[in-house]
Amino acid sequence: MALTVTRQAIARMLAEAERAHPHEACGLLLGQGERITAIRPTANVHPEPARFFEIDPQALIDAHRSARSGGAELIGYYHSHPVGPPEPSATDRAQGTGDDRVWAIVGERTIRFWRDTKDGFEPLSYVADEG
Ligand SMILES: [Zn+2]
Repeated sequence: MALTVTRQAIARMLAEAERAHPHEACGLLLGQGERITAIRPTANVHPEPARFFEIDPQALIDAHRSARSGGAELIGYYHSHPVGPPEPSATDRAQGTGDDRVWAIVGERTIRFWRDTKDGFEPLSYVADEG
């Protein structure tokens, strides 16, 4: 099933990547099922934020709690590559847990979507829509 992403979420991810530069931006992808309707920027708490990212753990806890009480689902995560293409780096591949969540990666002013499967990252096609 193809992923749907709102144009607003796409525009905001690109803007957040720009704003965080030369650090990596990171945050959460929220929505319902296979549809990403919003992003939530979080702090990059990694000690070397120009080369790596680590999503603020409290933001993750809050997102899980909110999803359990009927809020938007946590569909996945996004981060940016200040240098390099929007593809999983060796570090990204090492961090993948195979939980089937979606990873959006911004690089070279482009966003690509991946699914973190137990067999590694698989490229995902997506459709942009209004909303
Ligand atoms: Zn990365």
